[in-house]
Amino acid sequence: MTIEHADDDNHELRYWRDLEQRLPPKGVASIFTTDAACRDRLAAVRWPTGVACIKCGSMDVGHLALRKTYHCRNCRYQFTVLTGTSLRSSKLSAQLWFETAAEYIGWRATNSQHDFGIHALAAFMGVAYPTAFRVRKILKQDLGPGGPRLLAKCICCSSQV
Ligand SMILES: [Zn+2]
Repeated sequence: MTIEHADDDNHELRYWRDLEQRLPPKGVASIFTTDAACRDRLAAVRWPTGVACIKCGSMDVGHLALRKTYHCRNCRYQFTVLTGTSLRSSKLSAQLWFETAAEYIGWRATNSQHDFGIHALAAFMGVAYPTAFRVRKILKQDLGPGGPRLLAKCICCSSQV
């Protein structure tokens, strides 16, 4: 291994450890106790100044909590907190995303050289292998350096540094 590679590894490890340190000390579920709480958190991170229609930008938006859906009164577009994000194309709950993201961060913070195994991820999530495969790719893109870090902003919320 060259010195450059060692530096890269250290840099990457620091990145994941920094995220890990900002996870809630008692676990994600201690703060975001329900799926609705997770969706509220996603909405607050995504739309800090209030929910805006992702099609026309109008802020005249209604919320059907039971159907987990927002509807724009201006253009009638319906969307959820995940529409238009990398987390959209799955039936996974926001709560499962949060818990899996925290687990993934914890894994990368201690095993920077090896990615989370797909079988282990599938077992943790209680999903099939192809789903875990897709989820790992999404987590890597969202949480990793340079990613949008939507999930990281949601769950790495303690002692902002
Ligand atoms: Zn609209």
